Amino acid sequence: MAQPAALSWKLPASLVAGLFVGALLGWLVHGHLASGVAIVAVAEVVLLLTRIRHQVQPMMAVPASASPLQHDRFMTRSRRIASSLRDLRNAASQLPDAVVLLDQNQQVRWFNHAAENLLGLSRPKDRGVLLQQRLATSDLSDWLRDGTLEPLNDVSAPGQPESHLNVSMLPFGRRQQLLLARDISHLTRLEQVRRDFVANVSHELRTPLTVIHGYLELIDPEDVPELAPVLSEMRAQSKRMGQIVEDLLALSRLETQHQIVDERVQMAPLLATVRKEAEALSQGRHKITLESSAEADLLGSPKDLHSALSNLVSNAVRYTPTGGSITIRWQRTSDGAAYSVNDTGFGISATHLARLTERFYRVSSSRSRDSGGTGLGLSIVKHVMNLHQAQLRIESTPGAGSTFTCHFNQARLLTPGGNEEG
Ligand code: ADP
Repeated sequence: MAQPAALSWKLPASLVAGLFVGALLGWLVHGHLASGVAIVAVAEVVLLLTRIRHQVQPMMAVPASASPLQHDRFMTRSRRIASSLRDLRNAASQLPDAVVLLDQNQQVRWFNHAAENLLGLSRPKDRGVLLQQRLATSDLSDWLRDGTLEPLNDVSAPGQPESHLNVSMLPFGRRQQLLLARDISHLTRLEQVRRDFVANVSHELRTPLTVIHGYLELIDPEDVPELAPVLSEMRAQSKRMGQIVEDLLALSRLETQHQIVDERVQMAPLLATVRKEAEALSQGRHKITLESSAEADLLGSPKDLHSALSNLVSNAVRYTPTGGSITIRWQRTSDGAAYSVNDTGFGISATHLARLTERFYRVSSSRSRDSGGTGLGLSIVKHVMNLHQAQLRIESTPGAGSTFTCHFNQARLLTPGGNEEG
């Protein structure tokens, strides 16, 4: 009586697997290979079917008592499953993204062809090796050792150093992990072309704009009173264009710069300058306070830090209505020091916060334009912070105000008149 019981189980298993595989292959053919989800699904199904093959296949032996018709059906189903399994394994191996399945000990259990090309793994030698050890000399080594689930962006590919990868690690199954690596070389190249284009255009615009601005300054509105309002608008707009060009050039430089030449940045005079700039911009419309208790200088680029710190103050003035307060603080934190600018202005709703540091992202274009903004200020601040290994944090409540804080770690601090503290 054991055979019919086995038979009744085997039929649905093979049927379900067959249908599942068929549906998945159809889905893959429809072009969903690019998404990480698809890769995980493929790997999951490969594993599932490997298990089915190992555990179910032996049981799929045709029972001795089977009729010739049952025998034929069994054989047809077995062949269909075996062929679907082969197709699926081939599909997974041909994925353009590298996929590596790691067991609970971080040992390589399975990988596809792209992993051979991009990560330099080879079969069968690398099956069962510790991935961290195998890629110990690559740019992925620290990231693998830290075991973080944060994706790693734009690293050179261990198997093809001229290619750039985005790498992520996904928890998978019970205690396994799936490493996915995507070749983003074409995106990196496009990004470079975009950067060069913006830098070249900005550079080319600089001279004609300076000339136009210079001539406009030469014309005395009293000589042509009927054109005075036009002249004033032309001057304001040419100044704005000049500022956009300067900001774009600054941003292009910061984007291509990977390191800064570290110098002592004396904070006391810098904070005093930033405060004076705020007062000049505010023209008495706000209460501006400076609280400096950190007693620390910074190690970094004086020009870039000045630009970042004054950008935050200028925003506070421009986005705070008359009568509001602005407080500039420079104080110690548990692991370094923080420069913050707090205002009682319009505030920003939470939906905008994540995108504020993107180029030209504005909560309100008209408000930004009317207050002389270029939409590039916070982008510049973010890049300057990155170059100083500092973090920009933004807290805001619509209608109540905002606080922009730059956190510098201990290694960037210097005792005024003394040496490095960290
Ligand atoms: P902009 O030149 O437009 O000010 P930024 O990059 O400096 O460009 O800022 C991006 C956007 O963030 C601004 O357009 C504004 O909407 C918002 N923003 C920046 N700072 C503040 C602030 N202190 N209060 C309210 N909104 C702000």
